[in-house]
Amino acid sequence: MLHREIPPMDIVGGWLLRMGESGVARAESGSMLVYCERWPEQALRLGYWHGEPVAVVVETDGEDWPPFRDWLAQASASESELLATALQVTRWERDHRFCGRCGHATRRLSHEFAMQCDNCGLRGYPRISPCIITLVTHGRDMLLARSPRFPPQRYSTLAGFIEPGESVEAAVRREVMEEVGVEVGRVSFFKSQSWPFPHSLMMGFFAEAASRRIRIDGEEIVDAAWFTPEKLPQLPPTYSISRQLIETHRGAVAIR
Ligand SMILES: [Zn+2]
Repeated sequence: MLHREIPPMDIVGGWLLRMGESGVARAESGSMLVYCERWPEQALRLGYWHGEPVAVVVETDGEDWPPFRDWLAQASASESELLATALQVTRWERDHRFCGRCGHATRRLSHEFAMQCDNCGLRGYPRISPCIITLVTHGRDMLLARSPRFPPQRYSTLAGFIEPGESVEAAVRREVMEEVGVEVGRVSFFKSQSWPFPHSLMMGFFAEAASRRIRIDGEEIVDAAWFTPEKLPQLPPTYSISRQLIETHRGAVAIR
């Protein structure tokens, strides 16, 4: 469990996550955390991990450091949360060293994730980009689509960023219409998942199609089709919310 209260500056050691550009160091125990009486000077305090202070430090990747996605594939929900937090906070701090309004150098506030400009007073917080991800269903069938970026044969649910000023429900309807030309009726929330590449918050929905005719946009989506639960294509990994949407629907409509 990550307790989201930043340890004060007089706490100088505890759990440490060593992170590079593409991976995380594996401790001797096999865990992503190593216990450290004194954190390195540049370590960033994140909170408390099972009651002990935890910080992250950015280093050059070691040769045998497993990549982030490998860690996420194995991690428990609370380890995923810790890793997603560490990834997003370290990159945010790296990328916001200067004020976006006046260009002055910013400084990190010690008690919260915030970068303060002492010249003009602007305060910046880590950026989180909300996205919708939705499984469109028609009875037992599921509408799955291929993006040109996917590995060959892979199909997945539809996803897209929420635009400024837009409600989440409206984003679900708009993305489905734009990508596959399908109008949806009832939309229901499933659950959400932080996706730290680089700072998405995926909000999962089921959406019931009002009709079955598909018209793909040909750019974001190169193929889309209806699939029965018994005959599915290659799917995204089990830890993704996309796969969990598909498996949840499959379980709900299983013929026993
Ligand atoms: Zn400023």
